[in-house]
Amino acid sequence: MGHEVHVLPMATINEMKSHYQSALTATPPGAVFRAKTTAAVITAYKSGKVLFQGSAPEIEAGKWHTSSSTPSQTTGKSTNQRQKKTQFTPDTSLFTSSHIGSDEAGTGDYFGPITVAAAYVNKSQIATLKEIGVKDSKNLTDPIISKLAKDIVKLQIPYSLLVLHNEKYNRLQKKGWSQGKMKAMLHHHAITNLLNKIGKVELDGILIDQFCEPAVYSRHIGTEKQQLPDKTYFITKAESHSIAVATASIIARASFVREMDKLSDAIGMNLPKGASAKVDQTIAKVIQANGAAILDKYAKTHFANTKKAQKYL
Ligand code: MN
Repeated sequence: MGHEVHVLPMATINEMKSHYQSALTATPPGAVFRAKTTAAVITAYKSGKVLFQGSAPEIEAGKWHTSSSTPSQTTGKSTNQRQKKTQFTPDTSLFTSSHIGSDEAGTGDYFGPITVAAAYVNKSQIATLKEIGVKDSKNLTDPIISKLAKDIVKLQIPYSLLVLHNEKYNRLQKKGWSQGKMKAMLHHHAITNLLNKIGKVELDGILIDQFCEPAVYSRHIGTEKQQLPDKTYFITKAESHSIAVATASIIARASFVREMDKLSDAIGMNLPKGASAKVDQTIAKVIQANGAAILDKYAKTHFANTKKAQKYL
């Protein structure tokens, strides 16, 4: 038994969570996730600290930490401050300029689709959006998000919204697509659709709420013969800096909530969000009432929840 501890950026931790999706176990308090592979148990904490312990922790740790990530022994800066500046890091002036923002919802939820939205906000509209209450959707309740999404539409903010339904998600996943690649392609299509829609307008940049390293994103879209549009930037927690990303996050989340309501109505059962034990129990009920094959239409079936539901059957 050995162990390694590393401090990693939240974007990497989110990517790890997707990577280990089928190996996730119960999340301990204060942790973002825990996963168990044949080489190690990996526990990632909200502080950015990631613990690898087991027979060969270096195998798993080596996939994620680079020489630029700092061992936990050195403390001080927050994960966000430590994020390294690259050509993809926007100047803070972008947040007050006319720009496109994009964000997604549903990626960590067992039931329901992934939704991705891109929104164009002209700098003259930033103050109005702030006034009506647009901010990071993680700090808003679902009913408020739905109300804000309607207000955003009334303000005629140009946007593009994509919904990746479960059947297609599962098909792509079985074809070997990672969730990261699906997200990258959805963001890319939402942004290019929006660019076509708005035509020639004042545009100072495109800001993507970072869920993986920009190089990884470029590689994903490159495998589908796509390229980053000019002036594309990435930053983690972008919705707390950019009103365009916050607007996109609200549109994406509101759509996810609507889709979950539709799915719950269709199956005649309240499908919970997230990926908790409550989800596992609901999966068992769904299987008992309809058979396991129906999950393809309602869930991201490769999530560990599918296996975990067995104990309730
Ligand atoms: Mn996001």
